[in-house]
Amino acid sequence: MNFGLSNEQEMVVKTVRDFVEIEIYPHENLVERTGEVPPELGAELKRKCIELGFYACNFPEEVGGAGLDPVTFTLVERELGRGSMGLTVFFGRPSGILMACEGEQRERYLLPAVRGEKVDALAITEPDAGSDMRGMKCSARKDGSDFVLNGTKHFISHADVADFVIVFAATGEEETSKGTKKKITAFLVDRGTPGFEIKKGYDSLSHRGYNNCILTFTDCRLPQSQVLGEVHRGFDIANEWLTGTRLTVAATCVGRARRAFEMALPYAAERQQFGRPIGANQGVSFKLADMITEIDAADLLTMSAAWRLANGMPSTREIASAKLYASEMLARVTDEAIQIFGGMGLMDDLPIGRFWRDARVERIWDGTSEIQRHIISRDLLRPYGA
Ligand SMILES: Cc1cc2nc3c(=O)[nH]c(=O)nc-3n(C[C@H](O)[C@H](O)[C@H](O)COP(=O)(O)OP(=O)(O)OC[C@H]3O[C@@H](n4cnc5c(N)ncnc54)[C@H](O)[C@@H]3O)c2cc1C
Repeated sequence: MNFGLSNEQEMVVKTVRDFVEIEIYPHENLVERTGEVPPELGAELKRKCIELGFYACNFPEEVGGAGLDPVTFTLVERELGRGSMGLTVFFGRPSGILMACEGEQRERYLLPAVRGEKVDALAITEPDAGSDMRGMKCSARKDGSDFVLNGTKHFISHADVADFVIVFAATGEEETSKGTKKKITAFLVDRGTPGFEIKKGYDSLSHRGYNNCILTFTDCRLPQSQVLGEVHRGFDIANEWLTGTRLTVAATCVGRARRAFEMALPYAAERQQFGRPIGANQGVSFKLADMITEIDAADLLTMSAAWRLANGMPSTREIASAKLYASEMLARVTDEAIQIFGGMGLMDDLPIGRFWRDARVERIWDGTSEIQRHIISRDLLRPYGA
């Protein structure tokens, strides 16, 4: 494994860091205060990202993306992680699962998403089916050559601005050695399809301005052409194209933790109490030592998992470890950053309190910490038949 970055990767990191510092940071307070991103600001960020050539940088060049390999894309996510997610979402990274589009789906969904003309959202979670995805109740019943979709999805990120949603629904059942299991199919559902409603979701502790939605399907009729991948094989395409998304959570956590650390370090050196810098006390300086050690450890776990992915090596366990450790590390680092800033750490004048609030969701979405531990331990024990 090569720990150094190529010249191209250095340039990518600098370009994205500059974008975040110049285009994102100045608007963060507005988004925090209002919980909204003004549409014209979102459009402007998207336009600038397209101009930079970074829009859909996670997609291959043959479909119009920048064709970044998993390591370089993880570096992009690490830099974006520094910024407020309500804003960095406009630095568009459509869902990789769109690569499963075939035939005319490519013209209707994949290519417009890569060009930034259409925005997608991904809907798996339901009120009664979170970690247990296969427990989903949303169903798509076959009716002639169509499917009829009924059910509810919730917590669906940025569906408020989506032109279409990739929806997972149960299309049947099968008997397996572990009992009856639902067969799941993925569908492409356009905003405005009769029977499909997108409603405002819950107000969230984390990531103001990055909204979640509730989707309802009431006898929503979809032709066969809206099936993404094969019928009953929704989880196959999810496994093929969504493996890397947990890595982006890990990278985000590393970037945000470094930003918090980079604020805490000079503060500890400059803030005077009892006639000397607070950092002169071991009670503070050892916190800094622990913070940087954990950040670097999470960074290395994340980048090595990305490297395995880029080299076609098994990486499910390593990605789960990176997501688990980096998201839990971010919680500890942002908590200690508040402690170093004292009372000011809690005030809206500084972003530290926000980093701490935003950190909380990283241990929940894209598979909770417990589910990551489940993935890791299953991977370890499976060879022993346990
Ligand atoms: C802000 C936000 C945005 C989201 N965006 C999206 C999105 O765009 N699309 C989408 O499909 N989903 C999205 N999600 C859903 C997210 O992936 C789920 O919240 C997550 O998978 C957990 O499901 P749950 O919240 O229903 O918790 P539950 O599954 O009910 O879990 C509750 C608790 O029980 C624990 N638990 C459950 N099962 C086990 C087990 N077997 N062993 C040990 N512990 C267990 C969990 O770890 C957790 O601590 C989003 C969630 C949030 C909060």
